[in-house]
Amino acid sequence: MNLEKLEKNLKDKPAFQLRQAKETVFKNLIGDWLDATNLPRDLRQKLNQECPLKIDAEIFVSDDKNTVKALITLSDGLKIETVLMRYEGGPPHSREARPKGGRNTVCVSSQVGCPLGCLFCATGRMGFKRNLGTEEIIEQVLFFARYLKKENECISNVVFMGMGEPFLNYDNVIKAARIINNQKEGFGIGSRHVSISTIGITGGIEKLSEDPLQINLAISLHAANNELRSKIVPANKKYSIEKIMASVKKYLAKTGRKVMFEYIMIKGLNDSPNHAKELATLVKKLDKKLYMVNLISYNRTGIFDASAQETIKKFKDILRKEGIEVTQRYKFGQDIKAACGQLAGK
Ligand code: SAH
Ligand code: SF4
Repeated sequence: MNLEKLEKNLKDKPAFQLRQAKETVFKNLIGDWLDATNLPRDLRQKLNQECPLKIDAEIFVSDDKNTVKALITLSDGLKIETVLMRYEGGPPHSREARPKGGRNTVCVSSQVGCPLGCLFCATGRMGFKRNLGTEEIIEQVLFFARYLKKENECISNVVFMGMGEPFLNYDNVIKAARIINNQKEGFGIGSRHVSISTIGITGGIEKLSEDPLQINLAISLHAANNELRSKIVPANKKYSIEKIMASVKKYLAKTGRKVMFEYIMIKGLNDSPNHAKELATLVKKLDKKLYMVNLISYNRTGIFDASAQETIKKFKDILRKEGIEVTQRYKFGQDIKAACGQLAGK
C-alpha cells in the first residue's frame, strides 16, 4: 500500500477524506477499497486501480501454531519473509494484549537479502537484491494485522529483525517505524514495543539517538573480541567492537533507553566460560541499568552447530554472577524455517 500514491490521489479532495482513508487502512484493516464505505464509490474504484490493498502472500504455520511465516511477493517479483510469533504468556501489553495476556510480535524485513554476509545467517548468504520501500515494510505489518483481526487479536510488538540490515535502509525503516507508531494515521503501536536490531552500523545508532521516536535498539554482538567477531561478521572490519561501543555510549547518554546486546551461541566458537567473561568485561563498561544481554540459540543454516543447553546455562550463570541482566530467546518456527537467521525468501 503506497501512502505517497494515496496522498497524491487525494490531494484535491477535502483533507478529512485522506484521514478517513488512512483510518480504514490502518484501523479497520480493509483489504479492498470497495469496503471503505466512508469514501465515495468512484473514489474507491479509482483507489483500487491506483493503490491496491491486496498483498500477495503465501502462509506457513508451524506445528505448534505459535509461528506463522508469510512469504510476500513484491511488485517486481522478488520475495521477502515476515514472521508472526505468538507468545502465550509474557507481560500484558497496555492496549493490544492478546486475550490470554500474551503477545503477538511481528518480525519484519528491511531489505531483500543482505549485503553484510554474516557466516551464520541464511539471509546474509543469499546476497543482496535491494532495499525495501517504506510501503513494502508497512505491508508486512498490515498483512499480519489483517490476519490477526480475523481472530479478534492485534499486533502488540514489531521487531526489525527479519531479512536485511535496517540501518543500511535507515530512512525507509524510520519512516515505516513512524507509521507503525502513529496513533491517528498508523497502527498506534507504542514506541517501546518497536525494536530495531543492527549488526552495529554506527551511523544508524547515532542517528537513532537523535530521533524523537523512542524505539528500542538491539545490537547483534555475537563475540566480544574483534578477531573472533571479524571471522563471523565481516562488517566488523569496518564497524569494530570499539566503534560500536563508542556509539552505544553516546546513544545511552542521549536517550537513557536500555540497549539489548544479542549474542548467538555457536558450539565451540564463542560459547566458552572465557568468552562469557570477556563479554562481561566488555559490557560492564556501560551503566548497568542501561543494557541487557539476550542469548540466542543458534538456528542451523548450513554451517556451525548450536551450543548445548548446558553450555548456554553455564554461560548465562557467569554473566549473572557478574551482575548482568541476561535473557534467553525463545525458539520459534524452526520447522517452517522462520527462526532467526533462517529467512532466505524460500
Ligand atoms: N541485520 C540485523 C537484523 C536482522 S538479523 C542484525 O543482524 O541484527 C536478526 C537477528 O537474528 C540478529 O540478532 C541476528 O544475529 C540473528 N540471527 C542471524 N542468524 C541467526 C542464526 N543462524 N541463528 C540464530 N539467530 C540468528
Ligand atoms: Fe545481514 Fe543481520 Fe544476517 Fe548479518 S545477521 S547477514 S547483518 S541480516
